[in-house]
Amino acid sequence: MTTTLLPLFHVQPDIADKIFLETADGGTLTYRRFFAITARLAHALRGCGVRPGDRVAVQVDKSPEALALYVACVRAGAVYLPLNTAYTASEVDYFVGDAEPRLVVCRPSAQTEIGAIAAKVGGRAETLGTAGDGSLIALAANQPETFEDYPAGPDDLAAILYTSGTTGRSKGAMLTHCNLASNALTLVNYWRFTADDVLLHALPIYHTHGLFVATNVVLAAHASMLFLTKFDADEVIRLLPRATAMMGVPTFYTRLLEHPDFTRERTAHMRLFISGSAPLLASTHDEFSERTGHAILERYGMTETNMNTSNPYDGDRIAGTVGFPLPGVELRIADPETGRQLGTSEIGMIEVKGPNVFKGYWRMPEKTASEFRPDGFFITGDIGKIDERGYVHIVGRGKDLIITGGFNVYPKEIELAIDAVEGVQESAVIGVPHPDFGEGVTAIVVPVKDTDLTEETIMASVRDKLAKFKQPKRVLFVNELPRNTMGKVQKNVLREQYSTLYERRPAG
Ligand code: AMP
Repeated sequence: MTTTLLPLFHVQPDIADKIFLETADGGTLTYRRFFAITARLAHALRGCGVRPGDRVAVQVDKSPEALALYVACVRAGAVYLPLNTAYTASEVDYFVGDAEPRLVVCRPSAQTEIGAIAAKVGGRAETLGTAGDGSLIALAANQPETFEDYPAGPDDLAAILYTSGTTGRSKGAMLTHCNLASNALTLVNYWRFTADDVLLHALPIYHTHGLFVATNVVLAAHASMLFLTKFDADEVIRLLPRATAMMGVPTFYTRLLEHPDFTRERTAHMRLFISGSAPLLASTHDEFSERTGHAILERYGMTETNMNTSNPYDGDRIAGTVGFPLPGVELRIADPETGRQLGTSEIGMIEVKGPNVFKGYWRMPEKTASEFRPDGFFITGDIGKIDERGYVHIVGRGKDLIITGGFNVYPKEIELAIDAVEGVQESAVIGVPHPDFGEGVTAIVVPVKDTDLTEETIMASVRDKLAKFKQPKRVLFVNELPRNTMGKVQKNVLREQYSTLYERRPAG
C-alpha cells in the first residue's frame, strides 16, 4: 500500500497529456504542466530557505497555482499550513506565532502586514495572486521543471491544519503522509473513482474537504476536475453537464435545490453527489432524490481524522446517517466519562482508530494525550450511535449536549421533532443558562417563507413526542441560522446571542 503522498504527486507517462484541471473560464492544465509548476515552485521554496520539516503557511485565494503550492510544499518535504482566507491579520498572527513557519505566502495586497508578522518569528513573506502573479511565482519563473522530491517517510508530516476552534484556541492538527495517502486511496476505491471521472470542485482549498478529500482523490484516481474559485449555483449548473461527480457541503445542495434550472435532465448523467463537513438534513436528501433521482452520498470526517465513515456506493444511502466505518477505520461508541464501549443504538462518544487518524496537536502534547484513549482510539468529540444495520448516526457535538435539570438532552432529537412540524425549514436547539434548570432547552427555528408559525404551534406539536424535560422552554424564530464557510451551524454564536434569555428580571 502507498503510504506517502509522493506517488500521487508524480506525472505518470500514460496520463501526462491528460487534463488535470480546467478553470471556469476554460483554461486547462495537463498533468504534465501541473507537475512542472509544482517543481518550479518547489525550487522557489528552496530558494526562500525552506528545508524539510519547515512549515509554510499559506493564506491565498483559490487558484490552480495555490493548489500547486500545496503539492510543491510536500515535494520539498515542507509542512503545508493552509489558512482560511477569511482570517484577519491578528488571527494570522496567532497561527504564525504558534507554527513558526519559515515562509508565509499571502495575497499581494497583504504583503506588508503579513511580512511584519512573519518577521517576528524569523520568517519571510512572499505573495501569490489569483492571476498567476506574485513574488513567489516570479521566483519560480525560471526554475527547472523537474525536482528531486524529499524522500519523506509515511510518518513524516505533510500538513498542519488548524481546527475551526469554535471553543478555545484553535489547535494545529498534524497530518502525516500516511494519514493523507491511505485515506485518499481508500476513498478512491470506496467511491469508485477512475480516470474517467471529472470532479466538480467548488470547495475552498484551505480545509480538509476541498484540499485532501477532493484533490487527493482526483490525483490518486488520475481523474480530472472542473476547478471553480468558489461555489456559485449558476456556474455549477452550467458546468454540471461536463462533470461526473461533485463533492459539497450541505449548503451547496440546498442552494442548488433553490435554483429552477437544477433539474433531473441537468443531472441525469452524473455518477455521484457527495456531501459532508456538516449534517445534511434528511429533508434535503429526500428533496434532492425527488428532484434528480440521485441519492446524495453522505460521509463523515474531521480535520484530525480525515474521513471516517461513508454511506455505501452500492446499497442504501440512508438519510440522516453517515454510513459505515471505512475499510481500515475502527469506530466505536463509548461512554464519554469512562470510555466503556456501548452497545447497538446506545448513544455515546464516537471514537476512531486507523491510519487516517492524525499524529497529534502541534506543540500541545498534553492536549493530544487527553484526546486519545490508552488503546489508541481518538475521542472525536462527536456524539452518536450505531444502529442495528451498522449505520453510524451523529447526534451532535459533545459540547452541544444540553444538561437541563440534571437530564442529558441531545439537540438532534429535538431538532428532528421540530423539523417534522409543517412550515419548519430547519432548526437549531441549544442550551442557555436558566436559573432553575441550569440550562434551558431553546429552539431557534427558521420557518418556510410566508408561513405564520407560532411558538405555540411548535410547542403543541412536540408535546406528545418528547418527554417533558426535552421540550423547548422557548421557541424563537429567525430568517437564517449563522453558519461558517463549511456550512456548519455556529451554535456557539447562538448560545452567545441568547445567553440572557432566561435571566430573571429584577422585581418591580
Ligand atoms: P472539520 O474539522 O472542520 O472538518 O469539522 C469536523 C466536524 O464536522 C465533525 O467532528 C462533525 O462534528 C462535523 N461533521 C462532518 N461531517 C459531518 C456529517 N456528515 N454529519 C454531521 N456532522 C459532520
